[in-house]
Amino acid sequence: ATPMAIMVGVGEGARAGVLVRDAEALERFEAVDTLVVDKTGTLTEGKPRLTALEAAQGVPADDALRLAASLERSSEHPIAAAIVAAARRKRLKLSEPADFQAFPGGGVVGRVDGRAVAVGSGVFVAERGADPSALAARAEALRREGATVVFVAVDGAAAALIAVSDPIKAGAAEALAALAAQGMRVVMMTGDNRSTAAAVAEKLGIAAFEAETPPERKAEAIARLKREGRVVAMAGDGVNDAPALAAADVGIAMGTGTDAAIESAGMTLIKGDLAGLVRARNLSKATMRNIR
Ligand code: ADP
Ligand code: MG
Repeated sequence: ATPMAIMVGVGEGARAGVLVRDAEALERFEAVDTLVVDKTGTLTEGKPRLTALEAAQGVPADDALRLAASLERSSEHPIAAAIVAAARRKRLKLSEPADFQAFPGGGVVGRVDGRAVAVGSGVFVAERGADPSALAARAEALRREGATVVFVAVDGAAAALIAVSDPIKAGAAEALAALAAQGMRVVMMTGDNRSTAAAVAEKLGIAAFEAETPPERKAEAIARLKREGRVVAMAGDGVNDAPALAAADVGIAMGTGTDAAIESAGMTLIKGDLAGLVRARNLSKATMRNIR
């Protein structure tokens, strides 16, 4: 490779909002035939808002929200931020959590006012002894609209569900359509629930998706695609995406995302707008043309 053409490409990228950290990523992007994309914070804005709060029989909804928010204060997850913001809007008085523990891709646990509180996916709270089935039908209806549903368990009983909705980024559908038109296969991978994932994939015209994927499986899926002979780019924003970004032929982080993602990726889309993927792809093509 001619260093000059690469330097020009890197410079043009910077002006177009594409920060190239690894010149090889710029060289390889041209040959990419498969794009794996994370959902939350990558295809969506990553700033969900609480859109529904439904308590189990006999539980005051605001009590469940207060306990959940007190615990989620210690979490950096966007879902946590939505729950805390909603509690603050209602002026609920939050407590200091104890024994806080986060399980990436699952949820959080801890003690609030001496009570054992867990907030997370249905599977996550069920694994901790709470049965969310009384809230399951309502949860499913909310997911079909594209919302993410988490459950609040208090002292081992399902106390409430919380739905958060995260708007799809402006221009995301157009960017994916442009890449698909260039023959790229797009696969969405998310830790989120299957129904929510399906609703978002449909809105974006994405045919292939994997849901309920824990962080280590994202990286494994990429290794598998590479073994199948595919040249794989991965776009993501989260700590949980870092291993997958590192495993891909081309890792692309959202500049709005975590440092862990940015440090694991060969390129960063500074504003996190997906049109940057199309610009980066075109830049890679132009750069390789100049080299040849
Ligand atoms: P994504 O791949 O969409 O970015 P994550 O892997 O971060 O999603 O999380 C997957 C799921 O784990 C969430 O949809 C939620 O059910 C649960 N979860 C993770 N962290 C939290 C948290 N702090 N509070 C509540 N639920 C959480
Ligand atoms: Mg994410």
